[in-house]
Amino acid sequence: MTVEKVETLVVGAGQAGLAMSAHLRKAGVSHLVLERDRIAERWRSVRWDSLAANGPAWHDRFPDLEFEGDPDAFVAKDEVADYFETFAKQIDAPVRCGVEVSEVVRNTGRPGFHVTTSQGEIEADYVVAATGAFQLPVIPPVVPETEGLTQIHSSAYRNPAQLPEGAVLVVGAGSSGVQIADELLASGRKVYLSVGPHDRPPRRYRGRDFVWWLGVLNKWDAEATPGVEHTTIAVSGANGGETVDFRKLAARGMVLLGRTESCQDGVLSFASDLVGNIAKGDENYLSLLREADQYVERNGIDLPEEPEAHEIGPDPECMREPIASLDLAQAGITTIIWATGFGVDYSWLKVDALDAAGRPAHQRGVSTEPGVYFLGLPWQTRRGSSFIWGVWHDAKYVADHICKQRAYLEYRAADAPVSENA
Ligand SMILES: Cc1cc2nc3c(=O)[nH]c(=O)nc-3n(C[C@H](O)[C@H](O)[C@H](O)COP(=O)(O)OP(=O)(O)OC[C@H]3O[C@@H](n4cnc5c(N)ncnc54)[C@H](O)[C@@H]3O)c2cc1C
Repeated sequence: MTVEKVETLVVGAGQAGLAMSAHLRKAGVSHLVLERDRIAERWRSVRWDSLAANGPAWHDRFPDLEFEGDPDAFVAKDEVADYFETFAKQIDAPVRCGVEVSEVVRNTGRPGFHVTTSQGEIEADYVVAATGAFQLPVIPPVVPETEGLTQIHSSAYRNPAQLPEGAVLVVGAGSSGVQIADELLASGRKVYLSVGPHDRPPRRYRGRDFVWWLGVLNKWDAEATPGVEHTTIAVSGANGGETVDFRKLAARGMVLLGRTESCQDGVLSFASDLVGNIAKGDENYLSLLREADQYVERNGIDLPEEPEAHEIGPDPECMREPIASLDLAQAGITTIIWATGFGVDYSWLKVDALDAAGRPAHQRGVSTEPGVYFLGLPWQTRRGSSFIWGVWHDAKYVADHICKQRAYLEYRAADAPVSENA
């Protein structure tokens, strides 16, 4: 059996794997990228049809390649996938598509890893798991299978026409849930939206997109607080980019609900947290406006004032009298879309780099198993880590670490015998 030898093996050719390849190439580290599907497959085929990037083109990109067209536009998902293909060509990334990594184990008695793939065996000194943070759709076991009720995860949603006739309940009001609920409402559906805790920055304020504000206010670089779950962020690049405003959605006919808690005989119960969740989201929105105003004043920047952005509209009826329970059949709900996030799957990574729950055990992507790295994790080093532009900086850190480790291994004592220095 022939075993291919590579210095660094990168698993996955999404944005994380490509950023890794770019930095390894710059550092002169030979490597191979294995991708089980196609480059940027998730952007290509595992998102809904109308998805556009959540940040403008000038921002949501790698520093070494600009998007074609309007830099302030929100690029459609297929163009994002095309962008990464172009980038892979630009850097001549050594990507092999259609190859799945099924196992990585540590060598015994010598450094490095033995890797089993769908197309043969590989020996690698370093392994970077760039398989993303959005691997396994998570659907909480709340509603049992019920005749006449379709339940799908947001990753399986494509467009309104795909769903059976009837009202839709969307569970989860992060960027995915809110955008899907909005699209369904616009298509003429009756829509219920179960709203959990969230942040909701203004899309634009005083003429600048929120990505700019988070940048100048140093918020993209905020580090994770140990033990604190991060709050989902509700933003949208749809329709040219809009502020997520739950009151406006309710004014258009959407029914807002608290967190979905349980289901008994076809009747769903909701937590009494709707008003509180919306209030915290409003406070997050208003606090960013206040910080932006202070920044403008402190720095004497000439940006037009926007006092009307501080006005929060009246509470809709569904907030004044929150619904505690809902009979699915009576409400005509035929579909539930669970926009409840993703889990990770590192079952192929059989090394000492995972905690008891199977999650990466790491610091800034450097795992507890020397030689194994992670990339693309939310809050890997900072708030921006799982975003297109953020993963670029984390990949640089990982590449630097590999170079440092390599230098230690290459060290030989000055007075060592010649044979040892050879
Ligand atoms: C709905 C949604 C919208 C998003 N919108 C934005 C946005 O607008 N802007 C932004 O910056 N970020 C956005 N993100 C976050 C993030 O940028 C994307 O999820 C992005 O796809 C993550 O890139 P990645 O390279 O880390 O992982 P992925 O894109 O998931 O790439 C990992 C790759 O690894 C491959 N792979 C997995 N296992 C194996 C294996 N065992 N062997 C070989 N290959 C394997 C997969 O096929 C996949 O191609 C969004 C996320 C979601 C879910």
